Amino acid sequence: MKLKLHPGMEIKSSTIEGKGCFSKTHFPRGRKIAEYTGERISHAEANRRSGRRRLRICAINDRWSLDGSKGGNGTHYINHSCEPNSYMKILYGHILFIALRDIQPGEEITLDYESTLHTNDKRCTCGAPSCRGTINKSEG
Ligand SMILES: [Zn+2]
Repeated sequence: MKLKLHPGMEIKSSTIEGKGCFSKTHFPRGRKIAEYTGERISHAEANRRSGRRRLRICAINDRWSLDGSKGGNGTHYINHSCEPNSYMKILYGHILFIALRDIQPGEEITLDYESTLHTNDKRCTCGAPSCRGTINKSEG
């Protein structure tokens, strides 16, 4: 299946993990980078699919999730970092990535996943100085 990439970004191999999503342009702080797209699935289905090694599933609300591995626009390649340059905002059922600071062309776009379908002991490999060691943020 041909990936329909969001303009302004490209997929390249990442120093964090596997492939990553890189900016091809300048995104000023606070600017919308892209919308997360994918197949709309229920949480039960999301949990069923979470056995796969790489998770490309993102929750919209307490009922629905999007699976970016089907019909995604490249934003599902955005890697986790403990020092991210973007954050996720959910607006009227749409998942948007917003620049947390100025992002220069060529930078990898990263997000703090905070909570995922990964187990809590899933190690983080982001390499940031303040890396907390795990992808999920522990609640205690
Ligand atoms: Zn980290």
